[in-house]
Amino acid sequence: MTDNPTGRVCYFNGEIIPESEAKVSFRDRGFKYGDAVFDTTRTFGHRIFRLDEHVDRLFKSLRYLQIDPALSKDEYKKITMEVLEQNLPLIESDDDYWVSQRVSRGIDSPDIDAKTESGSTIIIETLPLPLKERASLYRDGIEVVIPSIRRTSPEALSPRVKTNNYLNLIMGDLEAKSHNPKAWAVLLDANGNMCEGIGSNFFTVTDGVIKTPKDKYVLGGISRETVTELAASLDIEIVQEDIDIYDAVNADEVFLTSTSLCVCPVSTINGTTVGNGDQPGPITKALTDAYIDLVDYDFVAQYLKKLEV
Ligand code: PLP
Repeated sequence: MTDNPTGRVCYFNGEIIPESEAKVSFRDRGFKYGDAVFDTTRTFGHRIFRLDEHVDRLFKSLRYLQIDPALSKDEYKKITMEVLEQNLPLIESDDDYWVSQRVSRGIDSPDIDAKTESGSTIIIETLPLPLKERASLYRDGIEVVIPSIRRTSPEALSPRVKTNNYLNLIMGDLEAKSHNPKAWAVLLDANGNMCEGIGSNFFTVTDGVIKTPKDKYVLGGISRETVTELAASLDIEIVQEDIDIYDAVNADEVFLTSTSLCVCPVSTINGTTVGNGDQPGPITKALTDAYIDLVDYDFVAQYLKKLEV
């Protein structure tokens, strides 16, 4: 038995064990090639958000890459809830978790002893959300920098699949942060239109219409989907279309969506102030309020509270 400093458990290839005992082989293709997929949701006030949708997206990623899920969707959901329930008592009531399923194609060697029956390596785990680290984004807005590296094009590999291979997005993020350590990268697609960030989808609001890049070019964010539903419920038009840099910097409002941030305003793009700067515009605010109502949890207050700690 090794020390398990976090106290958390995870599911690893058939059993729930202390995190420190989950050892992935160095021959695993996930480690060797990024030959793996994952999906991540979060909790709001310790309640999990849209697990069905996240597991559906996980299965689409697995299918696209021809990786054996090894378990049914119901099994993924049941195990996810078991792991979460065991780990929830470890965090404070005003903290929350990222909740992830990770599946690789498994071990790439004749060393059959270490192989699982299906071949796939499966991990289901939780990690406290970086609330304190990201809190200032709700006070100051996100500073977006557009790196020179382009988002993987659908002709190369579908950007809709949530693979472990994030190098394209990581390179973009490194480049953006070399210009501004606080920056969040939003990459352009291969045609030069605004695309997405390392864990976020991109939106503008112009003349009352919300715009976001087309499905084909981006990961179908569950938060993006949620915002699309909320816009419809608020009677705000939302369209998918190409957004170039000119349109982006001239938009009335710009925001990002992601599992951890939900909806968060963008204050600058490449140093140019956009929209209301650090203050969310009226549609960003309306969507944020509707999101808070939907999840029955004030995630903005949750983040901002961490500025005081
Ligand atoms: N785009 C990319 C490339 C991502 O990795 C993510 C999140 O993981 C998103 C967008 C946002 O998706 P979601 O809202 O499901 O977190």
